[in-house]
Amino acid sequence: MKSLADWQALAAGLRPETGLVIDGKCVPADDGRTLPIINPANGTVVAEAACGGEREIDLAVASARAAWDDGRWRHMVPRERMAIMRRWADLVEAQAEELALLETLSMGKPITDALTIDLPEVVVTIRYFGEAIDKVSGLTTTSAHDAVHMVTHEPLGVVGAISPWNYPLLMATWKVAPALAAGNCVVLKPSELAPLSAIRLAQLFLEAGGPAGVFNVVNGTGLEAGKALALHPDLAKITFTGSTAVGKQLMGYAGQSNMKRVSLETGGKSPQIFMPDLPDLDRAVEYAVRGIFDNGGQVCNAGSRLLVHEAIAEEFTARFIAKAAELYAPGDPLDPATTLGPLVSKAHQAKVLQWIERGTAGGAVLACGGSPDPARPQGAYVLPTLFRRVAPAMAIGREEIFGPVACLLTFKSEAEAVRLANDSIYGLAASVWTSDLTTAHRMIKALEAGVVWVNCFGDGDMTQPFGGFKQSGNSRDKSLESLTGYMQSKSSWISLG
Ligand code: NAD
Repeated sequence: MKSLADWQALAAGLRPETGLVIDGKCVPADDGRTLPIINPANGTVVAEAACGGEREIDLAVASARAAWDDGRWRHMVPRERMAIMRRWADLVEAQAEELALLETLSMGKPITDALTIDLPEVVVTIRYFGEAIDKVSGLTTTSAHDAVHMVTHEPLGVVGAISPWNYPLLMATWKVAPALAAGNCVVLKPSELAPLSAIRLAQLFLEAGGPAGVFNVVNGTGLEAGKALALHPDLAKITFTGSTAVGKQLMGYAGQSNMKRVSLETGGKSPQIFMPDLPDLDRAVEYAVRGIFDNGGQVCNAGSRLLVHEAIAEEFTARFIAKAAELYAPGDPLDPATTLGPLVSKAHQAKVLQWIERGTAGGAVLACGGSPDPARPQGAYVLPTLFRRVAPAMAIGREEIFGPVACLLTFKSEAEAVRLANDSIYGLAASVWTSDLTTAHRMIKALEAGVVWVNCFGDGDMTQPFGGFKQSGNSRDKSLESLTGYMQSKSSWISLG
């Protein structure tokens, strides 16, 4: 296993590719514009990444459109496409250390998390959708005797993907892999805070034998490149992971342009319900702690609302504070022992600290954390934070903070727990902790969330559709449901009369 010194040496020698990937080539922006990628652990500039705008989006969409029109990808024999996806996954796996390092340097994720969580999942995602290419079949229906009715599935065309910075490569891959597996051509606009791994991802696709123009990457700001992509008239679909506010804007852009399909994976404020009969308090507390402090709480489905039965609330709180201190000490994200890195940027740190001030001012009680890390003033750190006595109406208990801030609310009855859990504009995920099977099933039915966990939180694999109810989104990543979301059905009725 590599040490901190090994990773520091690798980081010092890293010369990341910084261009836009358009039509199979890595190119600078037309006007030479760049955006700095800042390491949030210490404020140093990791690289200057090319910054595209409307012009580069036009070029990338034109390239994807040409690839779509001549069928160089969608008409390829399925087994050949599968072989390319397999080689692509193998190359990503072989380059996992370099890709993990790019994530850590760009957005502060602990290197061990990048290596053991993000990268393996990226590889599995590409393999899963690659393997699925020839597994989606159409059907012939039981129809009139003098007709044959077939339903076939076709790719959509050029798909635009816009991704966030919290799991830069993984969130991009959850979009790009199924879109490509379905036979589409793709233009990806990664987050301008952490685009370097996506650039490598596209290069590795080309190295694996992926045809030029099929997978393009244009880094740039949301307001310029992202908006230009979402408004583009030649896109059949825009697929997005990011905030609810931007998701709403994308729906508007689609309506203003060509009514392209819009699939959204957006924000959350996920409740975890701890019933008094839960099977193992220590295990539940550990999941609660990991559920909010992993990745610094910068997780869409972070378990940020802890709904704890009043009979166990005091014991739960004491164990939570102790476990958080044991598991999440801030550190240099390049140190393999670190579990809590900085937040993505100083600007985001300021936002999270403002939320904490607001919570205290509103009357919630700070049980731990609540400040930057005094030992690391140069980094964008926030200590693991727990608020007690959070009233249901308080903004900190309702809005997505996207940082290491948990809010604990108590309840007296199952009905009250469900009411509190569902009293949200979001509905991404939820969990229930109970020993009673009937309670668990009742709650699964009652909870308004796209994912419900019982006696665990955050567990799952690629077969699990992932996405939200309500303002957490309108589609699903992962699973075959995601793959078919990048296809459209065609019904052909053949008269035999
Ligand atoms: P964000 O919405 O600020 O940005 C996401 C992407 O959208 C970035 O690439 C950004 O450049 C782009 N963008 C911004 N404004 C745009 C505009 N007007 N037009 C087009 N594109 C625009 O989100 P973020 O801060 O990068 O990520 C955090 C958010 O992502 C959180 O709300 C989190 O819950 C959400 N998220 C959701 C999921 C999920 O699966 N539901 C997964 C991860 C993150």
